[in-house]
Amino acid sequence: MSEARTPLAAAPGGDVVPSRLVVLAGPTAVGKGTVAAYVRAHFPQVWLSVSMTTRPPRPGEVDGVHYHFVAEDEFDRLVAAGEFLEYAVVHGRAKYGTPRGPVERALHEGRLALLEIDLQGARQVRETMPGALFAFLSPPSWEELVRRLVGRGTEAPEERAARLETARQELAAAAEFDIVIVNDDVRRASEELVSWMRSRQRDA
Ligand code: 5GP
Repeated sequence: MSEARTPLAAAPGGDVVPSRLVVLAGPTAVGKGTVAAYVRAHFPQVWLSVSMTTRPPRPGEVDGVHYHFVAEDEFDRLVAAGEFLEYAVVHGRAKYGTPRGPVERALHEGRLALLEIDLQGARQVRETMPGALFAFLSPPSWEELVRRLVGRGTEAPEERAARLETARQELAAAAEFDIVIVNDDVRRASEELVSWMRSRQRDA
């Protein structure tokens, strides 16, 4: 679709969003954040959404770059104001959401936009944004996923168990996606993702 000012949401019977909007989801600890960081660093033509979250920053995370870190009441206020394209409680703990305005601006500027979000969020985007594309990042194996989750060492045992349970459910959802990309190597997986985004844009 070459029209740069295609409306964001589909009017009944009207235009659908362009295939420039791409959702990257996948199980916990599969390396979505690392792939997103690689894309941010190496593919400036891809606009990466910065999510809002109520969880505290991890060491090295920068407010406004990795996330917008906000308090619970501020998050809830933005939900009530309809400011999120999607939002979810992830791992039964913190809230995460995609601010709507910046996504709209990026699409209206004709940019390729990437959302790195969880499965619940991906399903919401599928409902509200017809025409969006969905990529699933998969681990090379379940054993490798567990190894990565344990290796990160940032979660307490109960938190890790909750994340593994979420991951098990999330892996089963791969079939809902337009493409499954195996994260065997961050650079290779990122390049596959971006070249797929570009090719789908050409096809639209
Ligand atoms: P983490 O706390 O490890 O950075 O992220 C936890 C999970 O939240 C990941 O699966 C990540 O994809 C997801 N996540 C990050 N931002 C968003 C968002 O804006 N919306 C939704 N639904 N999930 C998100």
